[in-house]
Amino acid sequence: MEKIKELKFDKAGLIPAVIQDIDTMQVLMMAYMNEASLLKTIETKETWFWSRSRQELWNKGATSGNIQKVISIDYDCDGDTLLIKVRQKGNACHTGEKSCFFNQLEAFTENNDSSNYNEEKHILTKVYETITERKRNPKEGSYTNYLFDKGLDKILKKVGEETAEVIIASKNTDKEELVYESSDLIYHLLVLLCHKDVKPEDVFGELEKRYAK
Ligand code: AMP
Ligand code: ZN
Ligand code: ZN
Repeated sequence: MEKIKELKFDKAGLIPAVIQDIDTMQVLMMAYMNEASLLKTIETKETWFWSRSRQELWNKGATSGNIQKVISIDYDCDGDTLLIKVRQKGNACHTGEKSCFFNQLEAFTENNDSSNYNEEKHILTKVYETITERKRNPKEGSYTNYLFDKGLDKILKKVGEETAEVIIASKNTDKEELVYESSDLIYHLLVLLCHKDVKPEDVFGELEKRYAK
């Protein structure tokens, strides 16, 4: 607690707190704390902030149920920003998004081949992003749009069929066919997730949680 003295609160007595998901390392939100809210955060091991608009303390999740269980509280080199790692229940953003940072102002692709932004993403994420793009902006002749147009039942039927094909392929000694059918299944599963507005990161997060145990 002695270390609290090393923190620099601004003229209004506030310090920004960046909130990060301990399971996925996703940046969830940023809000301000004053000394009282920081002390309450330490005492209750749940996040408390200072609402500048309402001029009052708020306990994140008190009304929504989306509580943040505090795992650690770090501060930066010059003590003017907090980084709080939390186990997030539900979504952090009051809009219903997992993270508050769902708006993109700009995205730049580096042309240096070895550090291409897009290439650093997992292939599952890249495929999912293309599926999402088709959903937003349909493309003529797209099989993904054909599936979305037919709707949930068609997508579920395909997931079922591709599952059966994976099973059949597994009876073969030929591994190539299992690779091929698994790719079909994963693609259709991603279409299903996109249709249901579930992000692959949500699935990765769940796997990370189980892996951590
Ligand atoms: P909650 O703390 O989730 O129960 O939400 C209560 C209120 O706090 C909301 O109505 C918002 O005014 C505010 N709030 C909650 N989460 C956020 C957030 N991530 N960013 C900004 N304001 C928030
Ligand atoms: Zn700083
Ligand atoms: Zn938000």
